[in-house]
Amino acid sequence: MARKFFVGGNWKCNGTAEEVKKIVNTLNEAQVPSQDVVEVVVSPPYVFLPLVKSTLRSDFHVAAQNCWVKKGGAFTGEVSAEMLVNLDIPWVILGHSERRALLNESNEFVGDKVAYALAQGLSVIACVGETLEQREAGSTMDVVAAQTKAIADRVSNWSKVVIAYEPVWAIGTGKVASPAQAQEVHDELRKWLAKNVSADVAATTRIIYGGRSVNGGNCKELGGQADVDGFLVGGASLKPEFIDIIKAAEVKKSA
Ligand code: PEP
Repeated sequence: MARKFFVGGNWKCNGTAEEVKKIVNTLNEAQVPSQDVVEVVVSPPYVFLPLVKSTLRSDFHVAAQNCWVKKGGAFTGEVSAEMLVNLDIPWVILGHSERRALLNESNEFVGDKVAYALAQGLSVIACVGETLEQREAGSTMDVVAAQTKAIADRVSNWSKVVIAYEPVWAIGTGKVASPAQAQEVHDELRKWLAKNVSADVAATTRIIYGGRSVNGGNCKELGGQADVDGFLVGGASLKPEFIDIIKAAEVKKSA
């Protein structure tokens, strides 16, 4: 089964209601490949989820940027997976490097979150990736494997999981990972899934690439790599350039 190209837009902690409406208008007017070719999911901050959900074209979907690790209750400031389900939000991003680094989310905590969100019926974009120090120390694959293992230990059904490989050194830094560097880790990660989960999960799970290096100019070359099944885009997802990145899905269609 072919893996459908996936393009996610992580808006992070950005935007006013007016700006969000403008972005939605731009997306709604865009000519992009059909849903058979590309799955598009945008992730506004929590407070804008209902606005985006109710105004965004129906062939694009929405994701929250996080959710709580278990059932809601006395957890001030958190938003539960049940609440997202209640609002018909189908996707959630979990384990983003900014949360791992700034909020000390451990591999185990992220694994627990992924398992809980899936159990509630959400689809999950699970982020993994190494820091510059870890890459320079030659431990990229050890780090990415440990992050993925914490998820694999807790999850048996991978059909609603997309893995986002996001080298931390290429997020918001302007540093560029080459298509070959991205392909190398995606290939290793897929081999890790084949060995430690199953051949079927390795063949069907989408592994998307994230990092500042994804832009309107290079997305086709990156997206053309055999094991790159799409992108998780940060800064550029707030700009019209995001449309060009969605269109990069065509490279797989003609491949
Ligand atoms: C991200 O944080 O998911 C990301 C890819 O960010 P940026 O594109 O801004 O580097």
